[in-house]
Amino acid sequence: MSEVVYSIRDLVVEYQTRAGSMRAVDGVSLDIRRGEILGLVGESGCGKSTLGKAMMRMLSRNARIAKGELIFDGRDLVKASDEEMRQIRGGRIGMVFQDPMTSLNPTQRIIDHITETIQTHRPDATDEEARERAAFLVERLGIRKDRLDDYPHQLSGGMRQRVMIALALALDCDLVIADEPTTSLDVIVEAKFLDLLKELRDEFNLTIMMITHNIGVVAEVADRVAVMYAGEMVEVGDVYSVFEKPSHPYTEGLLKSVPNIAIDDEELYQMAGGPPNLMHPPTGCRFNPRCPYAMDICSREVPPRFEAHGDGGFAACWLRDPVRKEARDA
Ligand code: SF4
Repeated sequence: MSEVVYSIRDLVVEYQTRAGSMRAVDGVSLDIRRGEILGLVGESGCGKSTLGKAMMRMLSRNARIAKGELIFDGRDLVKASDEEMRQIRGGRIGMVFQDPMTSLNPTQRIIDHITETIQTHRPDATDEEARERAAFLVERLGIRKDRLDDYPHQLSGGMRQRVMIALALALDCDLVIADEPTTSLDVIVEAKFLDLLKELRDEFNLTIMMITHNIGVVAEVADRVAVMYAGEMVEVGDVYSVFEKPSHPYTEGLLKSVPNIAIDDEELYQMAGGPPNLMHPPTGCRFNPRCPYAMDICSREVPPRFEAHGDGGFAACWLRDPVRKEARDA
């Protein structure tokens, strides 16, 4: 198994609301491996963006890590000081958001963003060296180097996303967390951006965690997929194996909901019901009110992780319990 860059262990993130406390991430464990693109997928509100922010310790004021560990570079980031986290965010882990304008300074030219990043990371780099590196990076990302003198608002959405990736490459990041990076892009720009990510992963051995609600994006770009439902991780596995034979009924439903233009007059599948209120989640398996295969045990007991897909993959579903399977098959 490849080297683990970042390990999330039994993480619980709680939000304080007027109505009480709510667990947006509940007991999530996940390893991110060097050089992979991991797709983290689930419906809106399933906790995937909260998980990404918790990994960077960038949670909003009303949220807190109530339990668990975030192991990066041999230490637990839950215990890291604010100053240590600033250094990690500024040099080891990069983040690409849905709207890069929230991270780019509108009063600074693109060249200043990139050269500042390079010189903060490598204080010995001269202005000339930093400029050359910035030009190399933007050209590698398909942006003409004369656009380096532009301000963020002068670039298109797709270009701004690529600048964010250039910043991560300038830092030589161990990990890039991309939160819905393609949501604001049109389909053609999105396809180009996803191809570019794959090329960069191969060329720079980049490790990327791609958070998205769009399982089609995961199919396009990811090596492994992690599926979240109602704050919990329900299935993880190699993308080919999961897409060919999902082991969790929720993943199966997500895949069935993707429109297939190759089939005429196809009626689009819709999963029954909606995600639960996390203030009062269902007992047992949280998917049980919507699950077409629900059994008696499903509303009584939380399913543990059962091995699926090989290579450390799993599905948290009683259907994968080998003991029950034997009983069913007998
Ligand atoms: Fe469905 Fe039961 Fe599996 Fe949950 S544990 S996904 S309710 S079969």
